[in-house]
Amino acid sequence: MKIDKIGVIGAGTMGNGIAQVFAHHGANVLLVDAAEDALKRAMTTIEKNLGRMAKKEIIAADEIPKILGRILATTDLGKISDRGLVVEAVTEAFELKSKIFADLDAKAPDGAILATNTSSISVTKIAAVTKRPESVIGMHFMNPVPVMKLVEVIRGTRTSDETTQTVLELSREVGKVPVEVNDYPGFISNRLLMPMINEAAYSLMEGVATKEAIDEIMKLGMAHPMGPLTLADLIGLDTCLSIMEVLHEGFGDSKYRPCPLLRNLVLAGDLGRKTGRGFYDYS
Ligand code: NAD
Repeated sequence: MKIDKIGVIGAGTMGNGIAQVFAHHGANVLLVDAAEDALKRAMTTIEKNLGRMAKKEIIAADEIPKILGRILATTDLGKISDRGLVVEAVTEAFELKSKIFADLDAKAPDGAILATNTSSISVTKIAAVTKRPESVIGMHFMNPVPVMKLVEVIRGTRTSDETTQTVLELSREVGKVPVEVNDYPGFISNRLLMPMINEAAYSLMEGVATKEAIDEIMKLGMAHPMGPLTLADLIGLDTCLSIMEVLHEGFGDSKYRPCPLLRNLVLAGDLGRKTGRGFYDYS
């Protein structure tokens, strides 16, 4: 692999999958999270996922300890000082990401690429907090990361050709299909997906149909593998709300106003699968 020392910041839904994929393809991965228990949960999830892959004969069982051995979980961000690529996957909030990018810029070696897995926040705005905007790029993996092929590669206004080429190449090296887009709110994936999820939430709130009916219609009628409300629970309702807010603010268009029902669920702490309840109950 062109760069074989990778840092992943944030060990939640996305971060643990990103760490798994890089380690599976031979990279040495430093997985950083502010919360000790998030790191523990991440390592358990990765081990379970690898076990499932071994059962399906995608990998050999004796590869599991080798892959796990390539991942070092830590709360110490200072350890990223030898990483060639760092992929940030912390909670979707600009204040948090900007603080982390300023820190990464100070601690990562010169020339290291700093990528963000943001779903919607401007890559250009994140890059602007660093002294290396040419080396900052969006690397938007899809959920679940080990399964989904796409990486939406987002070029910020100042991202260099060299950074883009390296990230396209690395994505292919870990078995993904990168697709390049420019930096506008929601990029392509969430500019199209989130308004659909938001309208599904409005339809539910207005009593147009039950949640099951809404999901069934989109599954059977539009050949979607899962309905929009099930998908929203998988993504995380807090993430969905943040993305709608970015679209609303970024385009200044009322068609992107977040659904009050979505907002209420987030206020109640019902964030979807990760908390056991969202549009559906998983308890
Ligand atoms: P998550 O809530 O599951 O995980 C976020 C992790 O960040 C948590 O483990 C948290 O402890 C950690 N964190 C918070 N502050 C930190 C800090 N200062 N330093 C280190 N770690 C910190 O969130 P997620 O769903 O994995 O989303 C992460 C990013 O990926 C977001 O930008 C999101 O928009 C994006 N994304 C999410 C999905 C999805 O389907 N969930 C898909 C594509 C992209």
